[in-house]
Amino acid sequence: AAGRIAIIGAGIAGLACARALTDAGLPVTLFDKARGPGGRMSSRRRPDAIIDLGAQAFSARDPAFIAELDAWRRAGCAERWPTHAYRASNAGWQRLSDDRERFTGAPRMSAITRHLAQTLAARGTALHAGTRVSALERHADGWQIRTDAGAAFGPYTEVVVAVPPPQAEPLVQPWDNTLDALCQRLEQRACWAGWAIFAAPLPVPDGVTESWQQAHLQHPALRLVSRNQTKPGREHQPESLSLLAHTEWSEAHLEDDAEHVAMTLISALKALFPASQPLPELVDHGAHRWLYAQPAEPLAAMPDAGFALGHAGLSLCGDGLRGGRVEEAWLSGHRLGQTLAGCA
Ligand code: FAD
Repeated sequence: AAGRIAIIGAGIAGLACARALTDAGLPVTLFDKARGPGGRMSSRRRPDAIIDLGAQAFSARDPAFIAELDAWRRAGCAERWPTHAYRASNAGWQRLSDDRERFTGAPRMSAITRHLAQTLAARGTALHAGTRVSALERHADGWQIRTDAGAAFGPYTEVVVAVPPPQAEPLVQPWDNTLDALCQRLEQRACWAGWAIFAAPLPVPDGVTESWQQAHLQHPALRLVSRNQTKPGREHQPESLSLLAHTEWSEAHLEDDAEHVAMTLISALKALFPASQPLPELVDHGAHRWLYAQPAEPLAAMPDAGFALGHAGLSLCGDGLRGGRVEEAWLSGHRLGQTLAGCA
């Protein structure tokens, strides 16, 4: 069992960590409760369109992440997404100047994490999908992983917990007071993410002379509209919108049903257009609730390293440890992996 490492969570952080460890020749096994990898970089396939339900786009600042993004672009799973963004309210639309380059997965956000998982599989790294880890156990020969289906895996010399801190907390709580206290301090906020697919393009708002990709709203419920059919590789899709709600509104409506949430977000969209510009026919809609969408501000509670090393081979990474963005989540996992491999 010497050197075997388990990673719980196959979001971008867990995958980046696995990649850094396998680069150093260390054997890794991944576990994720979802049907596949990706976590909050997931996309939803609908009959008419693919919708990004979590991260909508990302930017790149750190040289290591820029190099990784270049590799994704060469592999064809990420592309630049030229965006014209607007601030929109029923009082009018104003162009937001934003000169930062933005990228998305191509032809969907989940293409990136799928590519990473496939690269790892080609190196012999197993991903146990649909496997929710319910407890860790420490034995004389190392860590054992228990699943909610009653299965046991192990032993492992190291366990990396790459899930949001509130979900990591019950796993580390029996074994590490410091990691447990850290998880309790690192709050994650919720977000309802709706979608709406229309039979025809949206009307052109007054004063908007170019095609637009994103609108930031001044509305109590709806925060951001992204047009999925403007993303690279999805030009054939009909008008297909991601509709993200504000944190405060999401948390006040956590228990609402998804249908009601979707319709509230769609009426907020409708209110952006005058009565003379009705929305086209709605062909599909829905909403997904992210309980742990992004870390709460301020970030003062986050460890400086952007990951946390505990006792006896237990460690934490993920956006909750570094910042609520794709780049930060990747860096958290990548740096932890390099540290565990002894090459940081
Ligand atoms: P996750 O992606 O959450 O991965 C954790 C994984 O652990 C999940 O796959 C989960 O299924 C699994 N898991 C959890 N518990 C268990 C368990 N007990 N056993 C097994 N598996 C478990 N970032 C940007 O940069 N730009 C954006 O525009 C942007 N927009 C966003 C919009 C929304 C609506 C959301 C939700 C997020 C957005 N983000 C954005 C943030 C970005 O998506 C995250 O920071 C990043 O994807 C987090 O990656 P992660 O690997 O840390 O966590």
